Amino acid sequence: MRSIKDYADIVGKETIEEIEKLGSYLSGKIIQNINSTPVGGGVAEILSRMVPLLKEVGVDARWDFIKGGEKFFEITKKIHNSLHGVEENISDDDFKHFLDVTEENLKEINLLGDIIFIHDPQPIGLIKAKDKNGFKEKKFIWRCHIDLSSANPKTFNFLKKFIEKYDYSVFSSPLFAKKLKIPQILISPSIDPLSDKNKDLPVETINEVLSRFKIDPERNIITQVSRFDRLKDPLGVIDVYRLVKKYVDCQLILAGGAAADDPEATEVYNEVIEKAGGDKDIFVLNLPPVSNIEINALQRASTVVLQKSIKEGFGLTVSEGLWKSKPVIASAVGGIPLQITHKYSGLLSRTIEGTALYVKQVLQNPSYAKQLGENGHNHVKHNFLITRHLRDYILLFLKTGYTQMQDTVYL
Ligand code: UDP
Repeated sequence: MRSIKDYADIVGKETIEEIEKLGSYLSGKIIQNINSTPVGGGVAEILSRMVPLLKEVGVDARWDFIKGGEKFFEITKKIHNSLHGVEENISDDDFKHFLDVTEENLKEINLLGDIIFIHDPQPIGLIKAKDKNGFKEKKFIWRCHIDLSSANPKTFNFLKKFIEKYDYSVFSSPLFAKKLKIPQILISPSIDPLSDKNKDLPVETINEVLSRFKIDPERNIITQVSRFDRLKDPLGVIDVYRLVKKYVDCQLILAGGAAADDPEATEVYNEVIEKAGGDKDIFVLNLPPVSNIEINALQRASTVVLQKSIKEGFGLTVSEGLWKSKPVIASAVGGIPLQITHKYSGLLSRTIEGTALYVKQVLQNPSYAKQLGENGHNHVKHNFLITRHLRDYILLFLKTGYTQMQDTVYL
């Protein structure tokens, strides 16, 4: 079993001791995380590591999920897209169904936390419980993982009524914050360097995964890992690959899977298969929900990692690629520019043609690729590892939960 102490080799003993000390101040308090899926996507990825680590430093952290049927998740996906600025038709009936499912969850979920930590819009309505007797002492935090800067006003105003009832809100980037009546805290996401997704792998494991999928380790590999979602632009990635292939030999991996709260995945997967058109050098991998070693191996085997998103929250896959010292070429959207300084720790692009040009450049210039990857690794090490995130969360919980600590603990 991995221990918090194992991270000392990466971030230093003092950092770990400080986290353990801060965690001890929360002893006896229950922190209840609630989101909408145990697997698939960045929120589940973070919680699956954050909750055990919080427990290890003495915090009674829990993780629960709301329930909803197909119609509910179709609506929440439309809400998600429209918060990213995509045109969606969300009817009054949709909003009503969202509220009805919220009421059902309010009856079913035991809100036992001292701090109720709600992630993203799907469970946002659970804040209605705050007015109940006995709940006034609890603190409610809304953690937003989405870039709200171009949110559809109608959708945002619907959610704002809930958001402003929370005690605190948390955003991943200052650019995502909105004008709100409640305090907004900035905490960027993170990756776990010791998880199966990111730990070092023996070369035999990497080769075994490549051979399982019949990918040639001797030829260039361009990879994008993402849920099959239009906002991740997998079709655009195929266009990029086809442009690059005119000049440099390469293979393309589109590795993805479904998330329990994402009903569009099958449709998008089918569109990708159709566009790939049987090209033997395009590997469209629809992976089972927990395929961490496979994804780790595919990222490590890549010559270039892409994240050609049209819209993005933070984009954990960018940090995952950079941590593996890969040259990452990604769209300048959402939280990606926090992770990549253009031409220093990766490359930022906006178009298919621009992305293809950078991929070609990097494939033709291995020493430049190596330099970008090394700079990217260091940037992630200093900014986007789970130990920093863990410390930020503990400080946030202390600030919201313990009035006597407020003079001494600042974010
Ligand atoms: N991921 C995965 N399997 C997949 C697709 C994605 O494990 O088939 C992981 C990926 O490695 C990353 C997370 O899911 O850790 C996606 O997070 P990101 O912030 O990039 O995007 P989101 O899906 O939250 O929009």
